[in-house]
Amino acid sequence: MTLTFDHTYARNLPGAYLRVTPDVAPTPRLLVLNRTLAADLGIVLSDIDAASWFSGATLPPGADPIAQAYAGHQFGGFSPQLGDGRAHLLGEILAPDGRRFDLQLKGSGRTPFSRGGDGKAAVAPMLREYLISEGMAALGVPTTRALAVVATGETVWRETALPGAVLARVAASHLRVGTFQFFSARGDKAQLKALADYSIARHDPDLAGAENPYLAFLDAVIDRQADLIARWMGLGFIHGVMNTDNMAISGETIDYGPCAFMEGYAPGTVFSSIDHQGRYAYANQPLILGWNLARLAETLIPLIDRDPDRAVDLANDRLHSIAGRYRTAWTGVMRRKLGLLGADAGDAALADDLLTAMQGADWTLTFRRLADPAALRPLFTEFTAMEAWLPRWQARTGDGVSTRIAEANPAVIPRNHKVEAALTAATAGDMAPFHALLAAIQHPFVETEAYMLPAPTGFGPHVTYCGT
Ligand code: AMP
Ligand code: MG
Repeated sequence: MTLTFDHTYARNLPGAYLRVTPDVAPTPRLLVLNRTLAADLGIVLSDIDAASWFSGATLPPGADPIAQAYAGHQFGGFSPQLGDGRAHLLGEILAPDGRRFDLQLKGSGRTPFSRGGDGKAAVAPMLREYLISEGMAALGVPTTRALAVVATGETVWRETALPGAVLARVAASHLRVGTFQFFSARGDKAQLKALADYSIARHDPDLAGAENPYLAFLDAVIDRQADLIARWMGLGFIHGVMNTDNMAISGETIDYGPCAFMEGYAPGTVFSSIDHQGRYAYANQPLILGWNLARLAETLIPLIDRDPDRAVDLANDRLHSIAGRYRTAWTGVMRRKLGLLGADAGDAALADDLLTAMQGADWTLTFRRLADPAALRPLFTEFTAMEAWLPRWQARTGDGVSTRIAEANPAVIPRNHKVEAALTAATAGDMAPFHALLAAIQHPFVETEAYMLPAPTGFGPHVTYCGT
């Protein structure tokens, strides 16, 4: 049994957390343990340790649990104090390759940041985060990782009585745009500087010596987030709650709530039951990227330059570049999805025109089958626009395009009806569909027929829920 902790966040940022112990799960039962991830992190442990440690039943040696403070804009409205209302950071672990990760429990009980919440989580949403985050990792998307889900033996009350669970997750860090907003909203420049310096040391150590480290840090976060959102868009992934407290400085996808993958392409797709205005709709995600990063930039103004006007000019300059930087990242993603070699000035327009032509067609399978007209056509009810587009694309592709398409475009994504079926079974005590689905989405480029097909028409428009 090895698991060694460090606590740089707690040491460096007093005032950015509260020390608080997780609840003791009465009868912890391990539902799933990510042995591959544990091995990568150099964690050696028994199933009994995993059930106990990753449910909060006992603390692993060296853990020093805290709830982190943060603020955030939720659906555009600012809350100066959110914080971990149902999560406990046990500490940081150092992987054998030297990388540092947070190990956090989610659903592990109330904290001073819980407000009206019960601090708990149910089995289904925690397994959902496990599935989708591991699916994203298999698809090569930067993401927090799921280490384990443990059923606590408690009942959690939502609309109905549900079995409770704790998720153990691993992240490059849990520093969020909202963490910066927390100190900024308090006008605490010293703490803000300490946080920025800590973030730079942890995620961008090369920038510490830059001429203007805080501006360079803003640039680095912009690059990571532009790249991340471009990858989401390429996969038809909809996060669902891109609040500033759910945007990580590390550039990892974080906080899987009402997220889902789009099936038929429709830019306005929203899954979240609470997103009435479509603020976080598929096609809005690149705009929210800019909006959230503007909130980060505002917090950095006092650090960027002593002259506030100059600081604002410098920050604005960076903010104005986001749309272009995102477009470049997206064009790169689309070039790969289209199997294009090299770069041509017309590539972005070629990709744009495909989107216009493929309205309503299954996002994932359209790309996967692009090079196979016989398989492609049945995905469409109206193929005329594609008939016009395909020769333009073919004129831009060379030898080996089929292979490049198959390497860049997954066959299997976590389809909503499969995820829901697995979670319903798991809630009733049957983990077999979960494990079968997990195995399929861990190999997204393998054509596993049973997991490739879109939802049957009876499945209806998918709705996902927050406050899980
Ligand atoms: P999320 O939607 O998961 O990003 O959470 C937004 C905020 O609500 C965070 O401060 C969470 O800690 C808090 N929160 C969500 N669910 C609960 C819960 N069941 N009990 C207490 N706090 C919660
Ligand atoms: Mg959150």
